[in-house]
Amino acid sequence: MNRVYNFSAGPSMLPVPVLERAASELMCYGDSGMSVMEMSHRSPVYEKIIADAEAKLRELMNIPDNYKVLFLQGGASTQFAAVPLNLIGRTGKADYIVSGQFSGKAYKEAQKMGYDVKCIATSKDTNFDRIPVVTKDMISPDASYVHVCFNNTIYGTKYSYIPDTGDIPLVADMSSCIISEPVDVTKFGVIYAGAQKNMAPAGVTLVIVREDLLEYGDPKMPSMLDWKLMAENGSMYNTPPCYSIYMAGLVYEWILGLGGLDTMKEMNEKKAKLLYDYLDNQDYYIAPVQKDSRSIMNVTFVTGVEEIDKKFPKEAAAAGLVNLKGHRSVGGMRASIYNAMPYEGVEALVEFMKKFAAENPKA
Ligand SMILES: *Cc1c(COP(=O)(O)O)cnc(C)c1O
Repeated sequence: MNRVYNFSAGPSMLPVPVLERAASELMCYGDSGMSVMEMSHRSPVYEKIIADAEAKLRELMNIPDNYKVLFLQGGASTQFAAVPLNLIGRTGKADYIVSGQFSGKAYKEAQKMGYDVKCIATSKDTNFDRIPVVTKDMISPDASYVHVCFNNTIYGTKYSYIPDTGDIPLVADMSSCIISEPVDVTKFGVIYAGAQKNMAPAGVTLVIVREDLLEYGDPKMPSMLDWKLMAENGSMYNTPPCYSIYMAGLVYEWILGLGGLDTMKEMNEKKAKLLYDYLDNQDYYIAPVQKDSRSIMNVTFVTGVEEIDKKFPKEAAAAGLVNLKGHRSVGGMRASIYNAMPYEGVEALVEFMKKFAAENPKA
Protein backbone atom coordinates (compact mmCIF):
# COMPACT_ATOMS: atom_id res chain seq x y z
CA MET A 1 0.00 0.00 0.00
CA ASN A 2 1.15 3.54 -0.76
CA ARG A 3 1.62 6.11 1.98
CA VAL A 4 -1.22 8.62 2.19
CA TYR A 5 -1.05 12.35 2.89
CA ASN A 6 -1.89 12.37 6.57
CA PHE A 7 -3.34 15.68 7.80
CA SER A 8 -3.77 14.46 11.39
CA ALA A 9 -3.35 17.03 14.14
CA GLY A 10 -1.37 14.52 16.18
CA PRO A 11 0.11 12.02 16.27
CA SER A 12 1.02 13.17 12.80
CA MET A 13 3.27 12.56 9.83
CA LEU A 14 6.96 12.00 10.36
CA PRO A 15 9.51 12.82 7.64
CA VAL A 16 10.04 9.86 5.30
CA PRO A 17 13.86 10.08 5.50
CA VAL A 18 13.58 9.85 9.29
CA LEU A 19 11.35 6.77 9.10
CA GLU A 20 13.73 5.18 6.60
CA ARG A 21 16.72 5.86 8.83
CA ALA A 22 14.88 4.46 11.87
CA ALA A 23 13.89 1.39 9.86
CA SER A 24 17.49 0.81 8.82
CA GLU A 25 18.58 0.96 12.45
CA LEU A 26 15.63 -0.89 13.91
CA MET A 27 17.17 -4.34 14.31
CA CYS A 28 20.63 -3.18 15.20
CA TYR A 29 21.74 0.31 16.17
CA GLY A 30 25.36 0.94 15.15
CA ASP A 31 27.48 -1.87 16.53
CA SER A 32 25.43 -2.20 19.71
CA GLY A 33 23.91 -5.49 18.56
CA MET A 34 20.42 -4.37 19.53
CA SER A 35 17.58 -1.99 18.77
CA VAL A 36 17.38 1.40 20.53
CA MET A 37 14.16 0.06 22.08
CA GLU A 38 16.08 -2.70 23.81
CA MET A 39 19.04 -0.87 25.28
CA SER A 40 19.61 0.32 28.82
CA HIS A 41 19.12 4.05 29.21
CA ARG A 42 22.27 3.95 31.38
CA SER A 43 24.42 2.44 28.63
CA PRO A 44 27.09 4.63 26.99
CA VAL A 45 25.49 4.08 23.59
CA TYR A 46 22.14 5.45 24.80
CA GLU A 47 23.76 8.25 26.77
CA LYS A 48 25.24 9.42 23.49
CA ILE A 49 21.84 9.23 21.75
CA ILE A 50 20.16 11.50 24.32
CA ALA A 51 23.14 13.87 24.50
CA ASP A 52 23.20 14.16 20.70
CA ALA A 53 19.45 14.81 20.57
CA GLU A 54 19.85 17.63 23.07
CA ALA A 55 22.88 19.08 21.27
CA LYS A 56 21.03 19.07 17.94
CA LEU A 57 17.98 20.73 19.45
CA ARG A 58 20.19 23.39 21.07
CA GLU A 59 21.78 24.08 17.70
CA LEU A 60 18.44 24.09 15.86
CA MET A 61 16.66 26.43 18.29
CA ASN A 62 19.74 28.39 19.30
CA ILE A 63 19.04 27.63 22.97
CA PRO A 64 21.31 29.64 25.29
CA ASP A 65 23.46 27.85 27.90
CA ASN A 66 21.40 29.21 30.78
CA TYR A 67 18.42 27.12 29.67
CA LYS A 68 17.94 23.46 30.57
CA VAL A 69 16.52 21.03 28.03
CA LEU A 70 14.40 18.25 29.54
CA PHE A 71 12.95 15.18 27.84
CA LEU A 72 10.02 14.13 30.01
CA GLN A 73 6.90 11.98 29.90
CA GLY A 74 3.19 12.54 30.38
CA GLY A 75 2.47 14.74 27.38
CA ALA A 76 1.90 18.46 27.31
CA SER A 77 -1.16 17.88 29.52
CA THR A 78 1.04 16.81 32.42
CA GLN A 79 2.88 20.12 32.11
CA PHE A 80 -0.43 21.92 32.75
CA ALA A 81 0.08 20.77 36.36
CA ALA A 82 3.88 20.94 36.38
CA VAL A 83 3.98 24.62 35.37
CA PRO A 84 2.28 25.97 38.52
CA LEU A 85 3.97 23.38 40.75
CA ASN A 86 7.39 24.54 39.58
CA LEU A 87 6.84 28.26 39.19
CA ILE A 88 4.05 29.67 41.33
CA GLY A 89 6.31 29.72 44.38
CA ARG A 90 7.85 32.89 42.91
CA THR A 91 4.94 35.13 44.03
CA GLY A 92 1.99 32.81 44.71
CA LYS A 93 -0.01 34.08 41.70
CA ALA A 94 -0.08 33.60 37.94
CA ASP A 95 -1.77 34.95 34.82
CA TYR A 96 -3.23 32.91 31.97
CA ILE A 97 -4.28 33.87 28.48
CA VAL A 98 -7.03 31.57 27.26
CA SER A 99 -6.96 31.34 23.47
CA GLY A 100 -8.45 27.89 23.02
CA GLN A 101 -9.07 24.52 24.56
CA PHE A 102 -5.54 23.62 25.64
CA SER A 103 -4.81 26.96 27.30
CA GLY A 104 -8.24 26.65 28.95
CA LYS A 105 -7.25 23.25 30.29
CA ALA A 106 -3.94 24.59 31.56
CA TYR A 107 -5.78 27.40 33.36
CA LYS A 108 -8.35 25.02 34.87
CA GLU A 109 -5.66 22.62 36.03
CA ALA A 110 -3.94 25.39 37.99
CA GLN A 111 -7.31 26.50 39.42
CA LYS A 112 -8.20 22.95 40.40
CA MET A 113 -4.98 22.72 42.39
CA GLY A 114 -6.15 25.71 44.39
CA TYR A 115 -3.69 28.23 43.02
CA ASP A 116 -4.41 31.93 42.72
CA VAL A 117 -4.53 32.22 38.93
CA LYS A 118 -6.25 34.78 36.76
CA CYS A 119 -7.39 34.73 33.15
CA ILE A 120 -6.26 38.14 31.88
CA ALA A 121 -7.44 37.77 28.27
CA THR A 122 -9.50 35.36 26.20
CA SER A 123 -11.07 35.08 22.74
CA LYS A 124 -13.79 32.71 23.94
CA ASP A 125 -16.52 35.20 23.01
CA THR A 126 -15.82 34.66 19.31
CA ASN A 127 -15.21 30.88 19.59
CA PHE A 128 -11.43 31.38 19.66
CA ASP A 129 -11.21 32.66 16.08
CA ARG A 130 -8.32 34.95 16.99
CA ILE A 131 -5.44 35.48 19.43
CA PRO A 132 -6.46 37.96 22.12
CA VAL A 133 -4.52 41.20 22.20
CA VAL A 134 -2.32 41.31 25.28
CA THR A 135 -0.62 44.50 26.39
CA LYS A 136 1.79 44.93 29.24
CA ASP A 137 -0.68 46.86 31.41
CA MET A 138 -3.00 43.82 31.49
CA ILE A 139 -0.41 41.67 33.23
CA SER A 140 -0.52 41.42 37.03
CA PRO A 141 2.70 43.02 38.31
CA ASP A 142 2.97 40.25 40.93
CA ALA A 143 2.37 37.27 38.63
CA SER A 144 4.85 34.38 38.94
CA TYR A 145 4.47 33.80 35.22
CA VAL A 146 2.18 34.40 32.26
CA HIS A 147 0.99 31.27 30.45
CA VAL A 148 0.11 31.19 26.75
CA CYS A 149 -0.58 28.53 24.16
CA PHE A 150 1.43 29.73 21.19
CA ASN A 151 -0.34 27.79 18.45
CA ASN A 152 -3.91 26.66 18.99
CA THR A 153 -4.07 23.27 17.32
CA ILE A 154 -7.85 22.93 17.42
CA TYR A 155 -8.85 26.39 16.20
CA GLY A 156 -5.93 27.04 13.85
CA THR A 157 -4.68 30.25 15.43
CA LYS A 158 -1.19 31.38 16.34
CA TYR A 159 0.42 34.35 18.03
CA SER A 160 1.90 36.67 15.41
CA TYR A 161 3.78 38.43 18.23
CA ILE A 162 5.46 37.49 21.50
CA PRO A 163 3.55 39.11 24.36
CA ASP A 164 5.76 41.57 26.23
CA THR A 165 5.62 40.48 29.86
CA GLY A 166 8.60 42.54 31.00
CA ASP A 167 10.44 40.76 33.81
CA ILE A 168 7.66 38.25 34.36
CA PRO A 169 8.53 34.88 32.83
CA LEU A 170 6.49 33.95 29.78
CA VAL A 171 5.54 30.25 29.68
CA ALA A 172 4.47 28.89 26.31
CA ASP A 173 2.83 25.64 25.26
CA MET A 174 4.35 25.17 21.79
CA SER A 175 3.16 21.60 21.21
CA SER A 176 1.90 22.25 17.69
CA CYS A 177 4.43 24.80 16.44
CA ILE A 178 7.72 23.76 18.04
CA ILE A 179 10.59 23.74 15.52
CA SER A 180 8.32 24.97 12.73
CA GLU A 181 10.16 28.30 12.53
CA PRO A 182 12.86 30.16 14.47
CA VAL A 183 11.81 31.53 17.87
CA ASP A 184 13.79 33.76 20.20
CA VAL A 185 14.09 31.45 23.22
CA THR A 186 15.37 34.31 25.39
CA LYS A 187 11.92 35.91 25.26
CA PHE A 188 10.52 32.93 27.21
CA GLY A 189 11.02 31.60 30.72
CA VAL A 190 9.70 28.17 29.75
CA ILE A 191 8.76 26.52 26.47
CA TYR A 192 7.12 23.11 26.54
CA ALA A 193 5.73 20.78 23.90
CA GLY A 194 4.35 17.30 23.49
CA ALA A 195 6.34 15.62 20.72
CA GLN A 196 3.66 13.99 18.64
CA LYS A 197 2.67 17.00 16.55
CA ASN A 198 5.93 18.15 15.02
CA MET A 199 8.84 16.39 16.64
CA ALA A 200 8.66 12.65 17.26
CA PRO A 201 6.24 9.83 18.05
CA ALA A 202 4.11 10.32 21.18
CA GLY A 203 5.83 9.60 24.46
CA VAL A 204 8.31 12.38 24.99
CA THR A 205 7.53 15.90 26.19
CA LEU A 206 10.06 18.65 25.77
CA VAL A 207 10.59 21.31 28.45
CA ILE A 208 13.05 24.16 27.91
CA VAL A 209 13.43 26.13 31.12
CA ARG A 210 15.60 29.06 32.16
CA GLU A 211 17.90 27.95 34.97
CA ASP A 212 17.02 30.67 37.46
CA LEU A 213 13.39 29.51 37.38
CA LEU A 214 14.27 26.16 38.93
CA GLU A 215 14.26 27.61 42.45
CA TYR A 216 10.54 28.05 43.06
CA GLY A 217 9.22 24.49 43.07
CA ASP A 218 6.65 23.33 45.60
CA PRO A 219 8.64 20.97 47.87
CA LYS A 220 5.63 18.63 48.04
CA MET A 221 5.31 18.15 44.30
CA PRO A 222 5.64 14.65 42.83
CA SER A 223 9.24 13.97 41.82
CA MET A 224 8.22 13.16 38.27
CA LEU A 225 6.92 16.72 37.79
CA ASP A 226 9.95 18.39 39.34
CA TRP A 227 11.93 20.16 36.61
CA LYS A 228 14.87 20.82 38.92
CA LEU A 229 15.18 17.17 39.87
CA MET A 230 14.88 16.16 36.23
CA ALA A 231 17.51 18.73 35.21
CA GLU A 232 19.90 17.50 37.91
CA ASN A 233 19.49 13.99 36.55
CA GLY A 234 19.83 14.84 32.86
CA SER A 235 16.19 13.73 32.24
CA MET A 236 17.18 10.30 33.60
CA TYR A 237 15.78 10.38 37.12
CA ASN A 238 13.86 7.33 35.93
CA THR A 239 13.67 5.58 32.57
CA PRO A 240 13.10 8.24 29.92
CA PRO A 241 10.99 7.60 26.79
CA CYS A 242 14.12 6.26 25.09
CA TYR A 243 12.86 5.49 21.62
CA SER A 244 10.87 8.72 21.18
CA ILE A 245 13.95 10.72 22.21
CA TYR A 246 16.00 8.85 19.61
CA MET A 247 13.35 9.65 16.97
CA ALA A 248 13.31 13.31 18.03
CA GLY A 249 17.08 13.37 17.51
CA LEU A 250 16.62 12.04 13.98
CA VAL A 251 14.00 14.71 13.26
CA TYR A 252 16.34 17.48 14.54
CA GLU A 253 19.11 16.11 12.34
CA TRP A 254 16.77 16.06 9.33
CA ILE A 255 15.87 19.72 9.82
CA LEU A 256 19.51 20.73 10.35
CA GLY A 257 20.35 18.94 7.11
CA LEU A 258 17.70 20.96 5.27
CA GLY A 259 19.21 24.21 6.52
CA GLY A 260 17.64 24.67 9.95
CA LEU A 261 14.59 26.55 11.13
CA ASP A 262 14.87 29.39 8.60
CA THR A 263 14.44 26.85 5.81
CA MET A 264 11.69 25.08 7.73
CA LYS A 265 9.81 28.36 8.13
CA GLU A 266 10.14 29.12 4.42
CA MET A 267 8.81 25.67 3.53
CA ASN A 268 5.95 25.90 6.03
CA GLU A 269 4.94 29.39 4.93
CA LYS A 270 4.93 28.30 1.30
CA LYS A 271 2.59 25.40 2.10
CA ALA A 272 0.28 27.52 4.24
CA LYS A 273 0.19 30.29 1.62
CA LEU A 274 -0.93 27.86 -1.06
CA LEU A 275 -3.87 26.78 1.07
CA TYR A 276 -4.84 30.21 2.43
CA ASP A 277 -4.51 31.87 -0.99
CA TYR A 278 -6.93 29.33 -2.37
CA LEU A 279 -9.32 29.82 0.58
CA ASP A 280 -9.20 33.61 0.15
CA ASN A 281 -9.99 33.51 -3.54
CA GLN A 282 -13.13 31.40 -3.70
CA ASP A 283 -16.49 31.45 -1.95
CA TYR A 284 -17.33 27.80 -1.35
CA TYR A 285 -15.25 27.27 1.78
CA ILE A 286 -15.07 29.62 4.74
CA ALA A 287 -11.87 30.06 6.77
CA PRO A 288 -13.18 31.16 10.18
CA VAL A 289 -9.89 32.38 11.68
CA GLN A 290 -9.14 36.11 11.56
CA LYS A 291 -6.29 36.73 9.15
CA ASP A 292 -3.81 38.21 11.62
CA SER A 293 -4.16 35.13 13.86
CA ARG A 294 -3.77 32.40 11.26
CA SER A 295 -1.67 29.34 12.07
CA ILE A 296 0.70 27.99 9.43
CA MET A 297 0.49 24.54 11.07
CA ASN A 298 -3.26 23.93 11.46
CA VAL A 299 -5.62 25.35 8.86
CA THR A 300 -9.36 25.22 9.60
CA PHE A 301 -12.21 25.66 7.13
CA VAL A 302 -15.90 24.87 6.83
CA THR A 303 -18.44 24.80 4.03
CA GLY A 304 -21.23 26.12 6.21
CA VAL A 305 -23.42 23.09 5.40
CA GLU A 306 -23.25 20.31 7.95
CA GLU A 307 -24.01 17.51 5.51
CA ILE A 308 -21.29 18.66 3.12
CA ASP A 309 -18.80 19.08 5.99
CA LYS A 310 -19.45 15.45 6.88
CA LYS A 311 -18.96 14.25 3.33
CA PHE A 312 -15.69 16.09 2.73
CA PRO A 313 -13.33 14.13 5.01
CA LYS A 314 -14.77 10.81 3.81
CA GLU A 315 -14.27 11.56 0.14
CA ALA A 316 -10.87 13.09 0.81
CA ALA A 317 -9.80 9.93 2.64
CA ALA A 318 -10.87 7.82 -0.34
CA ALA A 319 -8.58 10.03 -2.44
CA GLY A 320 -5.60 9.43 -0.12
CA LEU A 321 -5.93 12.62 1.94
CA VAL A 322 -6.70 11.42 5.44
CA ASN A 323 -7.63 12.87 8.84
CA LEU A 324 -9.14 16.11 7.58
CA LYS A 325 -12.12 16.10 9.93
CA GLY A 326 -12.08 19.13 12.22
CA HIS A 327 -11.95 18.78 15.99
CA ARG A 328 -15.32 17.92 17.48
CA SER A 329 -15.53 21.29 19.24
CA VAL A 330 -15.21 23.24 15.99
CA GLY A 331 -16.62 20.98 13.28
CA GLY A 332 -15.80 21.38 9.61
CA MET A 333 -12.30 20.54 8.44
CA ARG A 334 -8.77 20.95 9.67
CA ALA A 335 -5.63 20.36 7.67
CA SER A 336 -2.58 19.98 9.88
CA ILE A 337 0.42 20.72 7.71
CA TYR A 338 3.35 20.22 10.04
CA ASN A 339 7.03 20.09 9.02
CA ALA A 340 6.78 16.57 7.60
CA MET A 341 3.89 17.35 5.20
CA PRO A 342 5.37 17.84 1.74
CA TYR A 343 4.29 20.73 -0.50
CA GLU A 344 2.84 18.14 -2.87
CA GLY A 345 0.44 17.06 -0.13
CA VAL A 346 -1.01 20.55 0.13
CA GLU A 347 -1.18 20.82 -3.66
CA ALA A 348 -3.14 17.58 -3.74
CA LEU A 349 -5.47 18.91 -1.04
CA VAL A 350 -6.18 22.15 -2.93
CA GLU A 351 -6.87 20.21 -6.13
CA PHE A 352 -9.23 17.95 -4.21
CA MET A 353 -10.99 20.94 -2.65
CA LYS A 354 -11.61 22.45 -6.09
CA LYS A 355 -13.01 19.20 -7.43
CA PHE A 356 -15.15 18.61 -4.35
CA ALA A 357 -16.61 22.13 -4.53
CA ALA A 358 -17.54 21.66 -8.17
CA GLU A 359 -19.17 18.29 -7.50
CA ASN A 360 -21.07 19.30 -4.36
CA PRO A 361 -22.95 22.54 -4.99
CA LYS A 362 -24.65 24.05 -1.96
CA ALA A 363 -28.45 23.95 -2.54
C1 LIG B 1 -1.96 18.21 21.54
C2 LIG B 1 -1.75 19.39 22.41
C3 LIG B 1 -1.75 19.29 23.81
C4 LIG B 1 -1.97 17.98 24.51
O1 LIG B 1 -0.86 17.22 24.35
P1 LIG B 1 -0.67 15.79 25.03
O2 LIG B 1 0.74 15.49 24.71
O3 LIG B 1 -1.67 14.89 24.39
O4 LIG B 1 -0.94 15.95 26.48
C5 LIG B 1 -1.52 20.42 24.55
N1 LIG B 1 -1.33 21.61 23.95
C6 LIG B 1 -1.34 21.74 22.61
C7 LIG B 1 -1.11 23.08 22.01
C8 LIG B 1 -1.55 20.64 21.80
O5 LIG B 1 -1.57 20.77 20.47
